[in-house]
Amino acid sequence: MMNDRPWQDLLAESVTSADELCRRFPVARKTVLPVIDQYPMRINPYFLSLIREPGDPLWRQAIPDPAELEDTLPEADPLAEEAQSPVPGLIHRYPDRVVFLVSSQCALFCRHCMRKRKVGQPYAINRSTIDAGVAYIRETPAIRDVILSGGDPLLLLDDHLVRDVLEPLRAIPHVEILRIHTRVPCTLPQRITEALAQRLKSFTPLYVNIQFNHPAEITPAAARACARLADAGIPLGCQTVLLKGVNDSPVVMKRLMQKLLTIRVRPYYIHQGDLVKGTGHFRTSLHKGLEIMSALRGHTSGMCVPQYMIDLPGGGGKIPLLPEYVVEKRHNEWYIQTFDKKIVVYPVSDEVLHRFFY
Ligand SMILES: *Cc1c(COP(=O)(O)O)cnc(C)c1O
Ligand code: SF4
Repeated sequence: MMNDRPWQDLLAESVTSADELCRRFPVARKTVLPVIDQYPMRINPYFLSLIREPGDPLWRQAIPDPAELEDTLPEADPLAEEAQSPVPGLIHRYPDRVVFLVSSQCALFCRHCMRKRKVGQPYAINRSTIDAGVAYIRETPAIRDVILSGGDPLLLLDDHLVRDVLEPLRAIPHVEILRIHTRVPCTLPQRITEALAQRLKSFTPLYVNIQFNHPAEITPAAARACARLADAGIPLGCQTVLLKGVNDSPVVMKRLMQKLLTIRVRPYYIHQGDLVKGTGHFRTSLHKGLEIMSALRGHTSGMCVPQYMIDLPGGGGKIPLLPEYVVEKRHNEWYIQTFDKKIVVYPVSDEVLHRFFY
């Protein structure tokens, strides 16, 4: 049984070469080779076991696609992360919080990754960039929230994560909040061992935000991983990426959000796909995102309605987009649309307020 095996063994059995991939799936070696030459492939046996057929939503996230090389976008770093990095691997864009890249490894190299130019390159992040990041945070009192990202922070071994990252950060008085951004509860849930959950518990307040993109990813193994973290008192959130051919449908997205709540994961953001080279075949229109948001609000529990975020090019930051609920603003009253598309008049001046009730 896969669930009884150490996660390191599962990871070591990942499909990483064109030959192995061609043995398992009907794909041509010559179309895969140039893609993985540019952007590495890693599909661990757990995630592989969830793929049902070529082209399905899990396949699309994992199997290299020649479209990755046909993307004509010029920019490698559209969100200007490098320009906003005071030290390599640390992005300081907002006043009180930073993204701190502590690993370039992942349990699955997602084909839609916003940092696909960086993942899988071991030299980009190392002990000295981690130490420099911790030192920057220590010397910058404005930082009260540190978001560990990568790559996947939970690909670090427990000891390394605890001793070199979490303990030094927790020792900094102005760091109030720690967050871990990870995909492993979804892509390799065996990584969430009881030992890891117990060690993370001592760094409270620590939040874990996970990227689940499709209801089929919410398996019994993923549910167990999330239960371990939740039982250790760690609040769980989800940051879903809106992806064409994966979840760009109101029905699929609503089911995903509902199922997340059943495993105690609170939907936090749905991200519009970033303008990252090599991911164009996943990009949807902004209208599609807004259509999905209207299909959630009111139609299912507010607890599982996240915000739809667009990360502006050039480092402008994340901004929420909302469907237009206010259809007209008049001097005395606003015309507001309900979730089921009726118009309700809302009085906005004292004059009409009285007329309204008497
Ligand atoms: C997304 C992001 C954050 C965190 O944003 P929140 O809205 O607080 O979740 C912080 N810094 C950078 C550079 C980011 O991209
Ligand atoms: S796990 Fe995250 S960082 Fe790693 S490839 Fe997937 S999206 Fe990118």
